[in-house]
Amino acid sequence: MSREGSLDAPTRHPLDWQNKDFHDEGKLFGELERVFDICHGCRRCFSLCNSFPTLFDLIDGSKSMEVDGVARDDYWKVIDECYLCDMCYMTKCPYVPPHPWNAGARRRNDR
Ligand code: SF4
Ligand code: SF4
Repeated sequence: MSREGSLDAPTRHPLDWQNKDFHDEGKLFGELERVFDICHGCRRCFSLCNSFPTLFDLIDGSKSMEVDGVARDDYWKVIDECYLCDMCYMTKCPYVPPHPWNAGARRRNDR
């Protein structure tokens, strides 16, 4: 059963970079879509950096107004605006590990 996050310190799982799936672009986009959808339902980080408003504007401007309405090529706009400050992961997000939604992890095979 899941419970409210942010009650424990975030867990940093090592990147599974030796897994052959790590360089699978289709799986990367699948994981991005999953995490973007969690962020879309939350929006708590809207003011942290440009990545989040860019993502939310793309979703709100799409036909479906959901993540599935955003072209995958436009995902790069969100990615390019992240300068890896770690603020969202370390201070804001209730859904990072140990929360089972595992937001922010590159791969989910550590679940
Ligand atoms: S790591 Fe920093 S720059 Fe990247 S999405 Fe999170 S808050 Fe924005
Ligand atoms: S708190 Fe977590 S789920 Fe919410 S917008 Fe920030 S990174 Fe996304």
